[in-house]
Amino acid sequence: MSRISKVLIANRGEIAVRVIRTARRLGLGTVAVYSDADANALHVASADEAVHIGPAPARESYLLADRILAAAKATGANAIHPGYGFLSENADFAEAVAAAGLIFIGPPASAIRAMGGKSEAKALMETAGVPLVPGYHGEDQDGALLAQEAARIGFPVLIKASAGGGGKGMKVANSAEEFPAALASAKREAKASFGDDRVLIEKYLARPRHVEIQVFADSHGNCVYLFERDCSIQRRHQKVVEEAPAPGMDPAIRARMGQAAVAAAQAIGYVGAGTVEFLLDTDGAFYFMEMNTRLQVEHPVTEKITGQDLVEWQLRVAAGEPLPLSQDQLTINGHAIEVRLYAEDPSKGFLPQTGRLAHLRFPEQGQHVRVDTGVRSGDAISIFYDPMIAKLIVWDKDRDSAVRRLEKALAETEIAGLNANVPFLSAVAAHPGFLAADLDTRFIERYEADLLPAASAPDATILALFALGLTLSRRSGDSDPWAAIGGFLLNLPATERIDWAEAGEEGATHSVMVTWKRGSFSIAAAGETLSVSGCLSSDGTLSANLDGRHVTARWVRWGDHVTLFYAGTTRTLSLVDPHEGAHADHGGHGRLTAPMPGKVIALLVAEGASVSKGQPVIVLEAMKMEHTLKAPSDGRVTHLRYAVGDQVSEGVELVGFEAV
Ligand code: ADP
Repeated sequence: MSRISKVLIANRGEIAVRVIRTARRLGLGTVAVYSDADANALHVASADEAVHIGPAPARESYLLADRILAAAKATGANAIHPGYGFLSENADFAEAVAAAGLIFIGPPASAIRAMGGKSEAKALMETAGVPLVPGYHGEDQDGALLAQEAARIGFPVLIKASAGGGGKGMKVANSAEEFPAALASAKREAKASFGDDRVLIEKYLARPRHVEIQVFADSHGNCVYLFERDCSIQRRHQKVVEEAPAPGMDPAIRARMGQAAVAAAQAIGYVGAGTVEFLLDTDGAFYFMEMNTRLQVEHPVTEKITGQDLVEWQLRVAAGEPLPLSQDQLTINGHAIEVRLYAEDPSKGFLPQTGRLAHLRFPEQGQHVRVDTGVRSGDAISIFYDPMIAKLIVWDKDRDSAVRRLEKALAETEIAGLNANVPFLSAVAAHPGFLAADLDTRFIERYEADLLPAASAPDATILALFALGLTLSRRSGDSDPWAAIGGFLLNLPATERIDWAEAGEEGATHSVMVTWKRGSFSIAAAGETLSVSGCLSSDGTLSANLDGRHVTARWVRWGDHVTLFYAGTTRTLSLVDPHEGAHADHGGHGRLTAPMPGKVIALLVAEGASVSKGQPVIVLEAMKMEHTLKAPSDGRVTHLRYAVGDQVSEGVELVGFEAV
């Protein structure tokens, strides 16, 4: 390690925090870099030193190689860890780091280049004898030729951005009719995300599992694999749940995949941490998809089952040391599962959410539970970066025990202030299909009805808990004694009405009547009357007795909103100010508004056009993804308010719409 004394982490968020943790344990100095949006971020506070590198947009900060190199020079850092995303797979950056006399903690630029384009990588792997999915990955990008190739491969086909990553620029075409629109959309997304609209086409496999192999090579010619991760549970072709080892993995297939991955790494003179991604078909055949020439988001599950710190391995290898262990010294111990906690709304096609994390609480960490995060309570999830809030990793001696740990850890995870996918992940963890390890990349689609149940109105128990929490929180308030007891005077029976509104455009209002009766409450809601008593601790734990039934929930107030965590579910309601009279109209109903700030990239109807409910009307690009907005009902588009290329802010009305 002696060649590295101080590491600059050219990244942000959880991965920067995670790299800093290991660097510090090894006694190395650490330097963070940050944009305007991240001045108070956790990664900045975690490092020994931090350098401001520019405005919030990544293009003006985290993606600027020169600024990063200048920051390294200014602080005397002699090595740069790129994390994942941003500049991590940018060969020019790796070269520039070396040219500046610094150590790049990653593979040689030539290896990044070899795997940089999906098409080129496939051609290379074909030569190295690594099996590929049938497809077209040629240079010629003529539309007619691509359509012809798609027909030759046979529908359904998957169109992928050649420069792609993170599921962006990837579209399925089920038929020749669908092909042109899917191609256009894939190209648009590819251009916007990677500045390169070349695509490749592959046979779309029916029930593949995504199984990837972690490889590691040093500069002395050694290369090992640290087994596999199953990342089949995906939405929008993006991973949300990852586990190691892959459930039910045949040791012979594991060895074959491991050897193929090592062969792939050796074919390009690889050094450092890398991941070779395969699709594993139901018949045990596996096909190379791509190699990620960096540390993966999901590396912690591999760390948990091997007992190794992969960032330490990266640092040692970058310092010129040999790999810490040989292949036969590596073994699998137990089972680990990671879930990615995202700010997103699963019920709206997993639409990313932005906002402030009004409340954030994670389960206690230890041998069985690990939480990797880059945010704290009060931090914002902005439009500028990935909406991942944290990674929750559990480990136990076998898969069943690990799944139980996961359910418990998710039940102890509290996120309020924006919509997070915690309840969705809880539904996955508790699903019989997940317990049975019935995994493939269409898992979420297949079980959508179970995993994304239609929103239900809060029942009497839930409403009683909301109202009880509010009433108790006022009583424990130590300000004005009269205000503190709210509407309740002395010991006389008194009734107060509390109105709660559901969030969203069609959010209903629920009235709860609370009557104080000497030491307990009678709470009427949703057509039931419950006899209720309880207490609320200062940290938000609500213990209640409802008609003799004891329940515990967590009650968190932020502004006019309350979030209730109860029995593995999360629900947020807003207090309706009684003085405002009726619950304010949220608007939006029957209108087409921008769900987040973004750019208009396509108008799919003409002014004056009649549309039917669900018909795509306008395409927005936000957070590097395309969102197609559909007509809320049958009607007519009376006018188009924005042109293609216009920037729109959240909540604005995008088109004039008249329902019929
Ligand atoms: P990205 O680099 O954008 O993450 P990948 O090439 O790694 O894209 O693919 C992401 C996911 O898309 C895979 O894990 C798998 O679920 C799905 N996928 C990719 N190729 C195919 C295919 N040929 N057939 C079926 N699913 C595929």
